Amino acid sequence: MPIDELAVSAYTLPLDEPESDGTLTWTATSVVVAEPRAEGVQGLGFTYGPTACAHLISELLAGVVLGRDPMDVPGAWTAMVRAIRNTGRPGVASMAIAAVDTALWDLKARLLEQPLARLLGMARTKVPVYGSGGFISMTDDALAAQLGGWVHDQGIPRVKIKIGSDRDSERVAHARRAIGPDAELFVDANGAYSRKHAVRMARLFDGERVTWFEEPVSSDDLDGLREVRDLVDVEVAAGEYGYDLVYFERMASAVDVLQADVSRCAGITEWLRAAAVAAAHGLEVSGHTAQSLHAHPACAVPNLRHLEYFADHARADRILFHGVLDPDGGSLEPDLTRNGCGLDLNRGAAERFRTA
Ligand SMILES: [Mg+2]
Repeated sequence: MPIDELAVSAYTLPLDEPESDGTLTWTATSVVVAEPRAEGVQGLGFTYGPTACAHLISELLAGVVLGRDPMDVPGAWTAMVRAIRNTGRPGVASMAIAAVDTALWDLKARLLEQPLARLLGMARTKVPVYGSGGFISMTDDALAAQLGGWVHDQGIPRVKIKIGSDRDSERVAHARRAIGPDAELFVDANGAYSRKHAVRMARLFDGERVTWFEEPVSSDDLDGLREVRDLVDVEVAAGEYGYDLVYFERMASAVDVLQADVSRCAGITEWLRAAAVAAAHGLEVSGHTAQSLHAHPACAVPNLRHLEYFADHARADRILFHGVLDPDGGSLEPDLTRNGCGLDLNRGAAERFRTA
């Protein structure tokens, strides 16, 4: 029985206050949901992209997905990638494909009455996470409360803060005090630094035992990333703006850990291949945000480091979906009693945020 319907909807959830990192300020979280149907069973997938992704799905992707066998996800994926050739692969198009691809994997697992992790094949039963927030826009008290909550209340032994302001040294020291001596402390500059500034800051952060330095310079500056990586002790990570395999292949030669985001890089089909690219370079891969989408495929990857448990996505997911996993103890463990990704759209709660 072919895929006979592909419903699309979009939601924008405003934040209580604007949030910022080293290079961007934002005021809302947007989620675009794809729901394909076959044999009366509905799949669920999504991306954290703008409402434009919903229009792109309706205009360019639905026509090449409808009528296909729901068992053949890579076939649908290939047709979608062909359909957006002239639109351009990076950005909105790959996020739109991600929503449909994750939904098709979920649909296939539901049709086979299996949890997705089991359909993909599991290398592990649970996925280590790190708490991620620590926005530059937060007060020091709010920063301490968020990080302390993850480490001391929820038992998550790794946290990440944003840097790229003129208070970076103070904030990193403040974060270390909040989490105590044992938890791992990560920083993310979102490309805010120049090469030499990044090297100076990395050496300064050694005093607070920072072990992960994400995007010390712009991800467009691969030579710079490589140079910083080679000059500092802390691990350098990047890859969140990767939309296709060629990007990950280039990025893998410039970092210590490769990041990849299933909600951006055209879905689970490409994310698993990005992990294989990392493995071919002797690297581990770390899932970037979108923890509810990564939990199952991350179980299938042998060379997985960890998964980013992003505060904004945790908030949006708990409003929009039933079945959201809890990170207590420092990992997400897929519920193998539920089929697919284990998530269902909470239509009643979602409706007031709907934009398409
Ligand atoms: Mg980042």
